[in-house]
Amino acid sequence: MSLFKVRNKGLKNVFVHTLIMVLTIVNPSVTQTSLSSSEFERLRQIVQKYGFSVILKIPPQTGTYGMLDTKTRTIWINPVVFELRIATPTLVHETVHAVQQCASPSQLKPLGLGLEYPKMAYPHFMRYTGDRRHIEAEAYTVQSRTDSVDYVIGLLAKYCR
Ligand SMILES: [Zn+2]
Repeated sequence: MSLFKVRNKGLKNVFVHTLIMVLTIVNPSVTQTSLSSSEFERLRQIVQKYGFSVILKIPPQTGTYGMLDTKTRTIWINPVVFELRIATPTLVHETVHAVQQCASPSQLKPLGLGLEYPKMAYPHFMRYTGDRRHIEAEAYTVQSRTDSVDYVIGLLAKYCR
């Protein structure tokens, strides 16, 4: 998933993701288990307990499925993801970034989870270098897990207060 800081519109703390990139990363088998909106809601409730807002609106940055504004600790989820049946992986992805913020509030950094990155995710993060590559790789890897919701909830418990 493309991650970049928007510098030209004064949205320095916003991490945005382009539409097509999210679609291509979703593992079909994972998607099937992620259709349940109850899973989305379960994660949403927990994320909000850790002080992040989850807003179901088109993100301020157009052309994105999900977005984390680290300054306001707000996760934007584009409602279209429900139609596309990628709502849960999208929220999981942004939640990983939220956890990365918990672990390193001044600047997002990879958590260093020691996970093997799925091959299918490579095209989405290999173009980046350094921390940025691993920030995205972690989010993709966690969202691709069959236990992605439980796994990211565990990360919240470990890193966030
Ligand atoms: Zn991302």
